[in-house]
Amino acid sequence: MTAMIPAPHHSRTSLIGLSRTDLAEVLAELGEKPFRVRQLWHWIYCRGARDFGVMTSLGRTLRGALSERFSVDRPAVAREQNSRDGSRKWLLRFADGNQAETVLIPEEDRGALCVSSQVGCTLTCKFCHTGTQRLVRNLTAAEIVGQMLIAKDAVGEWPTPKEDRLLSNIVLMGMGEPLFNYDAVAKALWIIMDREGLAVSRRRITLSTAGVVPMIPRVGEELGVNLAVSLHAVTDDLRDVLVPLNRKYPIAELLDACRSYPGASNARRITFEYVLLKGVNDSLADARALARLLHGIPAKINLIPFNAWPGAPFENSPPATAARFATILNDAGYSAPIRVPRGRDIMAACGQLRSASERERLSRFRARQAAGIVDDDHPADPRPADSRTLSA
Ligand code: SAH
Repeated sequence: MTAMIPAPHHSRTSLIGLSRTDLAEVLAELGEKPFRVRQLWHWIYCRGARDFGVMTSLGRTLRGALSERFSVDRPAVAREQNSRDGSRKWLLRFADGNQAETVLIPEEDRGALCVSSQVGCTLTCKFCHTGTQRLVRNLTAAEIVGQMLIAKDAVGEWPTPKEDRLLSNIVLMGMGEPLFNYDAVAKALWIIMDREGLAVSRRRITLSTAGVVPMIPRVGEELGVNLAVSLHAVTDDLRDVLVPLNRKYPIAELLDACRSYPGASNARRITFEYVLLKGVNDSLADARALARLLHGIPAKINLIPFNAWPGAPFENSPPATAARFATILNDAGYSAPIRVPRGRDIMAACGQLRSASERERLSRFRARQAAGIVDDDHPADPRPADSRTLSA
């Protein structure tokens, strides 16, 4: 595929996203001892160095050798948008021209970065805008870690402070299904959790899945991060429609996997996401059934107002319905906050990612085409080959 804008140092491999073992191999090839890994790691992930020149502890010769063949380049930022509510969204462009978004959601005493794991998605959840696109490809570990580096660069959070961080939490709730891209997600999270670098504790990381049941135990055992499950319905009949993955892994199997999730406890609950769709899944009987279903699981429930998008076949539940739904869950002993949507004005809220940027890209392209302009930077059809089903 043609890159729309060539990467600045396309011949040099970026070291971002390499594990410590990978870096040891790179250094061994240059005739360096393994202890250098720690120094390099510190510069990249603790100090946020963007070129080798500043890495003074490495010595001039090694710095020179590294910069001949490698870089610490991040993905390019194609667009940045700031919401009235303080959320910030970056559209990243990768070396092959594909794009994905990442969103920073600041709160009073902390901030969560919402990270994407795939370009597009295969799940086709009926209420999700990202789901109206096809999967283009999995992101690499480098591209996942790159999202965090871009956000830290933008807010200037280098070196990483011990406390009071603006980027204190990571949620894998952007585009894509992280458990369909487990290896890259795991590699990225190990880098993000490394205590001598970005040092985000596993307790501050939440991985959200639509319910890829066979992968759930590994998330608990190998990563130990918090689990969130996109439930959205209390019967298989409805969930089969809303979240088609349910046909493969029905509710009972999904909840069994949650019941035995390693590390879940009353102090570390599993989050169940439930998008409120007017007249579809928001009845009081649904709320009662949800409370019964989650019985015995250390659970909390995130009630998500539906974020509409053009042509969406659903409406958001009225506030009074949502409040009654929450009360039933609260009375049954569950914490069930109704989330306040963030970043809706920049299409950064749950389920709104990338489709918008894709549409804008297409409409810019059409405007240029109408004006008779087609050049190398704007090839005849700017869409990635696999995503040309989009009805923008
Ligand atoms: N594939 C993973 C990660 C996506 S997380 C998963 O399904 O969990 C994004 C969250 O936003 C999911 O809970 C998803 O169900 C929810 N969501 C998707 N579209 C939405 C919309 N239009 N309004 C509100 N929430 C939505």
